[in-house]
Amino acid sequence: MNGEFAVIGLGRFGGSIVRELSKNGYDVLAIDSDEERVNEYMGIATHSVIADTTDENVLKSLGIRNFDHVIVAIGENIQASILTTLILKELGVQSITVKATNDYHEKVLRKIGADFIVHPERDMGVRIANGLMSSNILDYLDLSQEFSIVEIKVSDRMANQTLIDLDLRSKYGANVVAIKRGENVMISLQADELIEKGDYLVVIGENDDLDRLERAIH
Ligand code: ADP
Repeated sequence: MNGEFAVIGLGRFGGSIVRELSKNGYDVLAIDSDEERVNEYMGIATHSVIADTTDENVLKSLGIRNFDHVIVAIGENIQASILTTLILKELGVQSITVKATNDYHEKVLRKIGADFIVHPERDMGVRIANGLMSSNILDYLDLSQEFSIVEIKVSDRMANQTLIDLDLRSKYGANVVAIKRGENVMISLQADELIEKGDYLVVIGENDDLDRLERAIH
Protein backbone atom coordinates (compact mmCIF):
# COMPACT_ATOMS: atom_id res chain seq x y z
CA MET A 1 0.00 0.00 0.00
CA ASN A 2 1.16 3.52 -0.53
CA GLY A 3 -0.06 7.04 0.07
CA GLU A 4 -1.07 8.90 3.15
CA PHE A 5 -2.82 7.49 6.16
CA ALA A 6 -5.01 9.06 8.80
CA VAL A 7 -5.70 7.17 12.03
CA ILE A 8 -8.64 8.26 14.19
CA GLY A 9 -8.54 7.07 17.80
CA LEU A 10 -5.19 6.58 19.48
CA GLY A 11 -5.95 3.75 21.93
CA ARG A 12 -3.90 0.56 21.95
CA PHE A 13 -5.08 -0.53 18.50
CA GLY A 14 -4.98 2.80 16.66
CA GLY A 15 -1.76 3.70 18.44
CA SER A 16 0.03 0.58 17.27
CA ILE A 17 -1.09 1.23 13.69
CA VAL A 18 0.36 4.75 13.88
CA ARG A 19 3.65 3.46 15.30
CA GLU A 20 4.04 0.71 12.71
CA LEU A 21 3.20 2.93 9.72
CA SER A 22 5.51 5.67 10.96
CA LYS A 23 8.31 3.21 11.65
CA ASN A 24 8.05 2.08 8.04
CA GLY A 25 8.34 5.62 6.72
CA TYR A 26 4.70 6.36 5.88
CA ASP A 27 3.05 9.74 6.40
CA VAL A 28 0.45 9.46 9.13
CA LEU A 29 -2.00 11.97 10.53
CA ALA A 30 -2.91 10.89 14.07
CA ILE A 31 -6.24 12.17 15.41
CA ASP A 32 -7.89 11.89 18.81
CA SER A 33 -10.30 14.00 20.84
CA ASP A 34 -8.14 13.46 23.91
CA GLU A 35 -5.26 15.93 24.24
CA GLU A 36 -3.02 13.61 26.24
CA ARG A 37 -3.27 10.84 23.67
CA VAL A 38 -2.46 13.31 20.88
CA ASN A 39 0.59 14.60 22.77
CA GLU A 40 1.86 11.04 23.06
CA TYR A 41 2.06 10.79 19.26
CA MET A 42 3.61 14.21 18.59
CA GLY A 43 7.08 12.91 17.84
CA ILE A 44 5.88 9.71 16.23
CA ALA A 45 3.23 10.58 13.63
CA THR A 46 3.87 13.12 10.84
CA HIS A 47 1.10 15.31 12.31
CA SER A 48 -1.07 14.87 15.39
CA VAL A 49 -4.26 16.81 15.99
CA ILE A 50 -6.90 17.07 18.68
CA ALA A 51 -10.27 16.74 16.98
CA ASP A 52 -13.73 15.30 17.47
CA THR A 53 -14.32 13.39 14.25
CA THR A 54 -18.07 13.20 14.69
CA ASP A 55 -18.11 16.82 13.50
CA GLU A 56 -18.23 16.94 9.71
CA ASN A 57 -16.71 20.41 9.51
CA VAL A 58 -13.72 19.30 11.56
CA LEU A 59 -13.05 16.41 9.19
CA LYS A 60 -13.45 18.71 6.18
CA SER A 61 -11.03 21.24 7.58
CA LEU A 62 -8.46 18.48 8.09
CA GLY A 63 -8.74 17.71 4.38
CA ILE A 64 -9.55 14.11 5.23
CA ARG A 65 -10.80 13.47 1.67
CA ASN A 66 -7.26 13.72 0.38
CA PHE A 67 -6.01 10.79 2.46
CA ASP A 68 -5.77 7.46 0.67
CA HIS A 69 -6.57 5.34 3.72
CA VAL A 70 -8.40 6.30 6.86
CA ILE A 71 -8.47 3.96 9.85
CA VAL A 72 -11.22 4.43 12.43
CA ALA A 73 -9.88 2.95 15.65
CA ILE A 74 -12.43 4.36 18.07
CA GLY A 75 -13.05 1.52 20.50
CA GLU A 76 -15.68 1.84 23.20
CA ASN A 77 -17.71 4.68 21.76
CA ILE A 78 -19.61 2.78 19.08
CA GLN A 79 -21.82 5.75 18.27
CA ALA A 80 -18.80 7.95 17.53
CA SER A 81 -17.23 5.18 15.44
CA ILE A 82 -20.37 4.79 13.31
CA LEU A 83 -20.94 8.51 12.88
CA THR A 84 -17.29 9.10 11.95
CA THR A 85 -17.40 6.30 9.39
CA LEU A 86 -20.62 7.65 7.89
CA ILE A 87 -19.14 11.14 7.49
CA LEU A 88 -15.93 9.76 5.95
CA LYS A 89 -18.04 7.80 3.49
CA GLU A 90 -20.14 10.87 2.62
CA LEU A 91 -17.02 12.95 2.10
CA GLY A 92 -15.84 10.36 -0.41
CA VAL A 93 -12.81 8.90 1.38
CA GLN A 94 -11.43 6.12 -0.85
CA SER A 95 -10.57 3.43 1.64
CA ILE A 96 -11.95 3.18 5.16
CA THR A 97 -10.88 0.54 7.68
CA VAL A 98 -12.85 0.36 10.92
CA LYS A 99 -12.35 -1.54 14.14
CA ALA A 100 -15.58 -3.25 15.19
CA THR A 101 -16.30 -3.87 18.85
CA ASN A 102 -19.10 -6.40 18.45
CA ASP A 103 -21.28 -8.09 15.81
CA TYR A 104 -23.97 -5.38 15.81
CA HIS A 105 -21.35 -2.73 15.32
CA GLU A 106 -19.91 -4.74 12.44
CA LYS A 107 -23.32 -5.12 10.81
CA VAL A 108 -23.94 -1.37 10.83
CA LEU A 109 -20.44 -0.64 9.53
CA ARG A 110 -21.01 -3.04 6.66
CA LYS A 111 -24.32 -1.38 5.85
CA ILE A 112 -22.84 2.11 5.68
CA GLY A 113 -20.05 0.94 3.41
CA ALA A 114 -16.86 0.57 5.48
CA ASP A 115 -14.34 -1.04 3.13
CA PHE A 116 -12.50 -3.17 5.68
CA ILE A 117 -13.80 -4.17 9.08
CA VAL A 118 -11.48 -5.68 11.65
CA HIS A 119 -12.25 -7.35 14.98
CA PRO A 120 -8.78 -7.49 16.53
CA GLU A 121 -9.69 -9.10 19.86
CA ARG A 122 -12.01 -11.71 18.36
CA ASP A 123 -9.72 -12.56 15.43
CA MET A 124 -6.66 -12.88 17.63
CA GLY A 125 -8.60 -15.03 20.11
CA VAL A 126 -9.67 -17.41 17.33
CA ARG A 127 -6.11 -17.56 16.07
CA ILE A 128 -4.60 -18.29 19.44
CA ALA A 129 -7.26 -20.90 20.28
CA ASN A 130 -6.56 -22.71 17.03
CA GLY A 131 -2.87 -22.70 17.78
CA LEU A 132 -3.49 -24.05 21.29
CA MET A 133 -5.78 -26.84 20.13
CA SER A 134 -3.14 -28.46 18.04
CA SER A 135 0.53 -28.85 18.58
CA ASN A 136 0.94 -29.35 14.84
CA ILE A 137 -0.69 -26.12 13.80
CA LEU A 138 1.73 -23.28 14.27
CA ASP A 139 -0.26 -20.45 12.80
CA TYR A 140 -3.67 -19.98 11.36
CA LEU A 141 -5.26 -17.39 9.09
CA ASP A 142 -8.99 -17.24 8.55
CA LEU A 143 -9.61 -16.31 4.90
CA SER A 144 -13.39 -16.62 5.01
CA GLN A 145 -15.97 -18.76 6.78
CA GLU A 146 -14.92 -21.67 4.58
CA PHE A 147 -11.23 -21.26 3.83
CA SER A 148 -8.09 -20.90 5.91
CA ILE A 149 -4.36 -20.99 5.61
CA VAL A 150 -2.54 -23.05 8.24
CA GLU A 151 1.07 -23.74 9.01
CA ILE A 152 1.57 -27.43 9.73
CA LYS A 153 4.58 -28.93 11.43
CA VAL A 154 5.91 -31.87 9.44
CA SER A 155 5.37 -35.02 11.48
CA ASP A 156 7.78 -37.96 11.48
CA ARG A 157 5.40 -39.82 9.20
CA MET A 158 5.41 -37.05 6.62
CA ALA A 159 9.16 -36.49 6.54
CA ASN A 160 11.29 -37.80 3.67
CA GLN A 161 8.42 -37.88 1.22
CA THR A 162 7.85 -35.69 -1.82
CA LEU A 163 4.81 -33.49 -2.32
CA ILE A 164 3.56 -36.06 -4.85
CA ASP A 165 3.93 -38.87 -2.29
CA LEU A 166 1.98 -36.89 0.28
CA ASP A 167 -0.69 -36.03 -2.29
CA LEU A 168 -2.51 -33.65 0.04
CA ARG A 169 -4.43 -32.16 -2.88
CA SER A 170 -6.37 -35.25 -3.85
CA LYS A 171 -6.59 -36.70 -0.34
CA TYR A 172 -7.61 -33.51 1.47
CA GLY A 173 -8.27 -30.88 -1.21
CA ALA A 174 -5.40 -28.98 0.42
CA ASN A 175 -2.72 -27.07 -1.48
CA VAL A 176 0.79 -26.55 -0.18
CA VAL A 177 1.66 -22.94 -1.04
CA ALA A 178 5.02 -22.74 0.72
CA ILE A 179 7.52 -24.71 2.75
CA LYS A 180 9.32 -23.07 5.64
CA ARG A 181 12.73 -24.59 6.25
CA GLY A 182 14.72 -22.83 8.95
CA GLU A 183 15.05 -19.22 7.86
CA ASN A 184 14.07 -20.01 4.26
CA VAL A 185 10.62 -19.86 2.76
CA MET A 186 10.29 -21.79 -0.48
CA ILE A 187 7.38 -20.76 -2.68
CA SER A 188 8.09 -22.12 -6.17
CA LEU A 189 7.52 -25.71 -5.28
CA GLN A 190 8.22 -28.66 -7.53
CA ALA A 191 6.08 -31.77 -7.21
CA ASP A 192 9.18 -33.81 -6.37
CA GLU A 193 10.21 -31.49 -3.52
CA LEU A 194 11.36 -33.62 -0.62
CA ILE A 195 9.80 -32.72 2.72
CA GLU A 196 12.26 -32.77 5.59
CA LYS A 197 11.84 -33.23 9.29
CA GLY A 198 11.59 -29.81 10.94
CA ASP A 199 9.86 -28.24 7.92
CA TYR A 200 6.59 -26.39 8.16
CA LEU A 201 4.06 -26.64 5.35
CA VAL A 202 1.90 -23.61 4.62
CA VAL A 203 -1.34 -25.11 3.41
CA ILE A 204 -4.52 -23.53 2.04
CA GLY A 205 -7.84 -25.36 1.98
CA GLU A 206 -11.41 -25.68 3.18
CA ASN A 207 -11.71 -25.70 6.95
CA ASP A 208 -13.30 -29.17 7.07
CA ASP A 209 -10.56 -30.61 4.89
CA LEU A 210 -7.85 -28.95 6.95
CA ASP A 211 -9.37 -30.44 10.11
CA ARG A 212 -9.25 -33.89 8.53
CA LEU A 213 -5.67 -33.34 7.47
CA GLU A 214 -4.69 -32.20 10.93
CA ARG A 215 -6.23 -35.27 12.57
CA ALA A 216 -4.54 -37.58 10.06
CA ILE A 217 -1.03 -36.30 10.66
CA HIS A 218 -1.08 -36.53 14.45
P1 ADP B 1 -8.43 0.50 22.33
O1 ADP B 1 -9.39 -0.56 22.76
O2 ADP B 1 -7.84 0.25 20.95
O3 ADP B 1 -7.36 0.84 23.34
P2 ADP B 1 -9.87 2.89 23.12
O4 ADP B 1 -11.36 2.78 23.18
O5 ADP B 1 -9.10 2.92 24.39
O6 ADP B 1 -9.34 1.78 22.11
O7 ADP B 1 -9.42 4.19 22.31
C1 ADP B 1 -10.21 4.84 21.43
C2 ADP B 1 -9.70 6.25 21.25
O8 ADP B 1 -10.63 6.93 20.42
C3 ADP B 1 -9.59 7.05 22.55
O9 ADP B 1 -8.28 7.58 22.68
C4 ADP B 1 -10.64 8.14 22.40
O10 ADP B 1 -10.22 9.38 22.95
C5 ADP B 1 -10.79 8.25 20.89
N1 ADP B 1 -12.08 8.79 20.48
C6 ADP B 1 -13.29 8.43 20.97
N2 ADP B 1 -14.26 9.17 20.40
C7 ADP B 1 -13.64 10.01 19.53
C8 ADP B 1 -14.10 11.03 18.62
N3 ADP B 1 -15.39 11.33 18.50
N4 ADP B 1 -13.17 11.69 17.88
C9 ADP B 1 -11.86 11.40 18.00
N5 ADP B 1 -11.37 10.47 18.83
C10 ADP B 1 -12.24 9.77 19.58
